[in-house]
Amino acid sequence: MNEKDILVRALSKNEEVRAFALTDKGIAEEARKLHETSPIATEALGRTLSAGLILGDMMKEKGDLVTIQFFGDGGLKHILVTSDFEGQVKGYVSVPGYTALSTGEEGDDIRKGIGRGTLTVIRDYHLKEPYSSQIAIHTGDIAGDLTYYFSQSEQTPTSVGLDVLLGEDGAVLASGGYLIQLMPFASQKTIDTLVRNLSRPFPIAQYLVSHTPEELLSVVLDGFDPQITGTKDVSWHCSCSEERGKMVIATLGRKEIEEMIRENKPVEASCVFCGKKYTYTKEELEEILSSLPQEKRAA
Ligand code: ZN
Repeated sequence: MNEKDILVRALSKNEEVRAFALTDKGIAEEARKLHETSPIATEALGRTLSAGLILGDMMKEKGDLVTIQFFGDGGLKHILVTSDFEGQVKGYVSVPGYTALSTGEEGDDIRKGIGRGTLTVIRDYHLKEPYSSQIAIHTGDIAGDLTYYFSQSEQTPTSVGLDVLLGEDGAVLASGGYLIQLMPFASQKTIDTLVRNLSRPFPIAQYLVSHTPEELLSVVLDGFDPQITGTKDVSWHCSCSEERGKMVIATLGRKEIEEMIRENKPVEASCVFCGKKYTYTKEELEEILSSLPQEKRAA
């Protein structure tokens, strides 16, 4: 079951509720292996990757990007996820090895790991400036923060559920979730039914071990006869390359690069998203330096 990572989109039969659901165990496990995350970091990053994929699907067209950033005072410090309209996602957590004593309360470790701080969502439609909005971290369990984000920044009643289930060895057994949004013209009856559905505690990841995202939506949207309007494959994808690495080095500036050339040894740079290492020779550094615009003289 769910060997493939997929995302589905749906609309309730009465067209008053739109929904997204996904299963992305493969992506969460890929992230765990690449970043060698602790169980708490695996769950926090996994939830944020799922959120990124859903928000990416809410964008308009190919090339659109969404970035979700949690900056908290908890032990995980910083989580950053970037996703696009085509179902590709990448991300990292700045302290992948963070562990805490478990309190046994569901979600509590993640809340402590995230702590207090800010959640920023940046939507880039490739038109002028990207749209960026920031809220204070609300619950610290990621799903609750996204729910709050939609009510604050977009004034759209939304409910987000995200969950990752790990095995004894820390490997990901299931990951995924949903996002449900009320249309502006939704009736009170629709709202009441949704509130009732969502108030029941539901083990999302446990359910996804043996069920599809479509089945997850039929549970959350019980009574709404959800119609699937789209399905797409989702995957972990890092777009780093030797060339992009050169661009990153170029941003360090003339002085820094001249210093590296003086040291006369190859420079190794690794990608924060996937850990892939790129090595640049002295000659390549000189080439980067010569591509930089001449510094302006002080007037
Ligand atoms: Zn990379």
